[in-house]
Amino acid sequence: MKPLIAGNWKMNGLAGAKGEIDALIAKLGGSAPDDREVLICPPATLVAAFAASYSDEAIQIGGQDCHPLASGAHTGDISAEMLADAGAAYVIVGHSERRADHGETDAIVKAKAEAAFRAGLTPIICVGETKDEREGGKALEIVGAQLSGSLPETGETYVVAYEPVWAIGTGLTPTNHDISEMHDFIRSKTPEGTRLLYGGSVKPGNAKEILAISNVNGALVGGASLKADDFYPIVEAAP
Ligand code: PGA
Repeated sequence: MKPLIAGNWKMNGLAGAKGEIDALIAKLGGSAPDDREVLICPPATLVAAFAASYSDEAIQIGGQDCHPLASGAHTGDISAEMLADAGAAYVIVGHSERRADHGETDAIVKAKAEAAFRAGLTPIICVGETKDEREGGKALEIVGAQLSGSLPETGETYVVAYEPVWAIGTGLTPTNHDISEMHDFIRSKTPEGTRLLYGGSVKPGNAKEILAISNVNGALVGGASLKADDFYPIVEAAP
């Protein structure tokens, strides 16, 4: 399975941040690596410009969220169709920051993933337990419930990102054993060929080890995706 290394810029990046992508592409040798896929999900304001600049280059562009509906009276929201129209190929749905900050339930996340399919985008569906849930021995149960509630049943291809909430932006990561156990579990609940990404404090220093774990087919990278000097070694670390 071709690994997918995805950068989630969150609410970071003005137009000048394009320089980091140019630097990344220069490091990649200017053309698409054929043994790995590289994706950047910038803020929505930059999707169209980036997608136009890099349409036949080494990286793909994605959105960070979409509304379940195609259009309508939803001030401030962006539909999957709009992201596709802007040139996006992927969209992240159900990131824990959206689940927490915007009250997104599993049912909403599933509707967003279905909206992505309708627009021809591949959804990256995020799941992950909190610190209390992990410490209470409930990680598998919680992620299992998120998977049953959030995964679409249409038969179309999606990506799942396992991102423990307590590992995001903290510098903490689960043990390799815990990542492996969770990814084996998610593998057992998803169609064959589904790419499973690990996310949460992936850095140049730990990427190789994490990406070598079986059933880890790539990474969803936040902070370390903002600078080409950090992101490139992670892209390179994919087996
Ligand atoms: P982080 O974020 O790499 O900064 O921990 C990952 C994410 O939230 O996708």
